Amino acid sequence: MSLRTHKIQLKPNNKQATLLAQHCGYARVAYNAALTIFRNALQDGEWKSLYDIKKEFNARKREVFPWCDDMSQNACKNAIHHFSDAVKRWRSGQNRFPVPKNRSGKQSYQAENGKDSVRVERKRVQLPKIGWVRMTEELRWTGGIGRVTVSRRNDKWFISILVMADEENAMVQVPLIDDRPAIGVDVGINTLATCSDGTKFPNPRPLKHALRKLRRASRTLSRKTQRSANWHKALVSLARIHYRVSCIREDSHHKATTAIVRMASAIGIETLSVTNMMKNKKLAKHIADGAWYKFFTMLKYKAERRGTPVHEAQQFFASSKTCSTCGNKKAELTLSDRIYHCNSCGFECDRDVNAAINLCPS
Ligand SMILES: [Zn+2]
Repeated sequence: MSLRTHKIQLKPNNKQATLLAQHCGYARVAYNAALTIFRNALQDGEWKSLYDIKKEFNARKREVFPWCDDMSQNACKNAIHHFSDAVKRWRSGQNRFPVPKNRSGKQSYQAENGKDSVRVERKRVQLPKIGWVRMTEELRWTGGIGRVTVSRRNDKWFISILVMADEENAMVQVPLIDDRPAIGVDVGINTLATCSDGTKFPNPRPLKHALRKLRRASRTLSRKTQRSANWHKALVSLARIHYRVSCIREDSHHKATTAIVRMASAIGIETLSVTNMMKNKKLAKHIADGAWYKFFTMLKYKAERRGTPVHEAQQFFASSKTCSTCGNKKAELTLSDRIYHCNSCGFECDRDVNAAINLCPS
């Protein structure tokens, strides 16, 4: 058994969309109520456990939230569990003390409650108190359903379903290519990824292409009266552009990583300190547009599923400056030098391919 998540866009009707939004609201107020109960007790020198908080919340919820009987109680229960997790992270020193959630934050709620409370049937899902909601595609994995989270992004609704996938089913993927070599992968700005065998995956650079539209949409937004009807409309259209940018980026990442994992028996990558690189103001925007960290995360999990080893080069390994034939290291190499020319052995090759060969695990 292995765990798989599949995030699918929902197509709720108007009534269902309203109900989904109300459930997100319920989860939010429950989280905030739990926070208030916990904080007030703490100020009185008292420690409230998850059980205490739940008990106190349930005792008072009908009085404070008279509408809550129309909602699925899974929403508030899971929200209080999330709060309890936040407290654990605070106690372990990982996070700061939890803060209240506000309306403008991310809207989501966790819908399931134990076994079989959420059912999936082809292109629809049954949610407690909401009923059968259409999905844009079928669930990719078969197996028991675990955590189910409904979330909203702008005007779109999504459901994220965790499946305890049966082993054979979990491995249904694009087939591997025979006689696969070990491959080094170099990431860049103009090409998203260059492989040591010369394969290149273009970087669509969606942010760069959307910048004009983004500027105009931001300007329109800034000229509206805050929180007016037209302001909200402008906010949605700005958010839509951002959403499109992230979709294009994600799509190119998926295509490239799947192709690389398919053709490599072992993968070599560099260790990037993206935070450091972002300090270069001229490059920051372009590096962010490539979202290399996400690319590597994707590559790693896809490789892991295949059992393909991933080697990370040492940090500060000069993959671009080193000659892949004789190992000679150049002192100077600017970003505009697209062809690598070795002064020591005369080797000449595309700059990115040279770096990828250096990263190739031997
Ligand atoms: Zn050389």
